[in-house]
Amino acid sequence: MPVLFPAANFRLRMVAPKPTASQPSGQPVSTDKRAVANTPSWKHEQANAVRDPEELLQLLELDPGLLPAAKAASKAFPLRVPRSFIARMRKGDPDDPLLRQILPLDAELQEIPGYDSDPLQEAGARLASGLLQKYAGRALLTVTGACGVHCRYCFRRHFPYAEENPRRDWPQVLERLREDASIGEIILSGGDPLLLDTTRLREISADLAEIPHIRRLRIHSRQPVVLPARVDAELLTWLRELPFQKVLVIHANHPAEISPNVRHAMQAVQATGVTLLNQSVLLRGVNDNAEVLAELSEALFAAGVLPYYLHVLDKVAGAAHFDLPETRARNLWRDLHTRLPGYLVPTLVREEPDKPGKTPLYR
Ligand SMILES: *Cc1c(COP(=O)(O)O)cnc(C)c1O
Ligand code: SF4
Repeated sequence: MPVLFPAANFRLRMVAPKPTASQPSGQPVSTDKRAVANTPSWKHEQANAVRDPEELLQLLELDPGLLPAAKAASKAFPLRVPRSFIARMRKGDPDDPLLRQILPLDAELQEIPGYDSDPLQEAGARLASGLLQKYAGRALLTVTGACGVHCRYCFRRHFPYAEENPRRDWPQVLERLREDASIGEIILSGGDPLLLDTTRLREISADLAEIPHIRRLRIHSRQPVVLPARVDAELLTWLRELPFQKVLVIHANHPAEISPNVRHAMQAVQATGVTLLNQSVLLRGVNDNAEVLAELSEALFAAGVLPYYLHVLDKVAGAAHFDLPETRARNLWRDLHTRLPGYLVPTLVREEPDKPGKTPLYR
């Protein structure tokens, strides 16, 4: 098994920071002196994430009988979960919907026909190292392979990040983007782009800002949900000064993920002029219930976030136990639609290879 999240590979700096129009040289980059002088506190929290299944079970007062399976399954895809996310789980409940998303289980090790390591066949959409384009007008940059949390259902658990590092071929990535004026939107993805230092994000956005046809910058990140401390003064300053129309798509699956800290973080981001959206994955045992999904939409909107997509599971090896029959997914969506105003109903989609966009399933 290759190392899936080679965070250390991304340390090398290959792009010099450049001042942008919105970041004149000489002006302080951050209003948070601590963040400049020391390691930002979110990085301590990140480094302190729980990686040992035994510690997770102890913290949540769970049956030690769960340990052998958790250890076995975490060999293929390690456990990783910030303590602030664990704090939102119920103690003593092995069925807690947040725990289900991160606890390694025996079921992951079963080989199920139809569940593969590259269900989306993304290899064919590659424009340059770390640059993917599947859909018109927007391209996706996988700026890091690392994530702040390891979600057991994720298709990216098998993605060859080590080879797909845009930093290796950054001049070529920029050249590809410069020569294609049809690309008006860049999506920073991963992994999780908000695992990068804000300094590094600033370098990336400064280079993109020099390409006139790029009007929008979208960030896909689960960090604001699992580690809301990531939304610090330095990040907010970067967001505020970005010379793009800007969108942050967060990823929450259950209303219990939207803690007061998450709500406050989202309100602060919204105040910087960012449009906030959420995507969820429909997961058996987590949110396969119209009432729970309705509560999620309400909690998101209370935090200033609009539901965007509800994805059915990508058929990835090791995640079959989260899957639902498609008729069940459609019925849940219809039920949800009867409970909420239209703007709080996410679009139910499946991602399929060789399609011009995500495929809507709610007809
Ligand atoms: C999902 C996805 C997008 C974004 O699609 P939207 O419908 O615009 O949200 C872009 N590129 C790739 C490769 C994707 O998988
Ligand atoms: S769902 Fe997102 S945050 Fe979770 S492991 Fe996958 S890419 Fe990382």
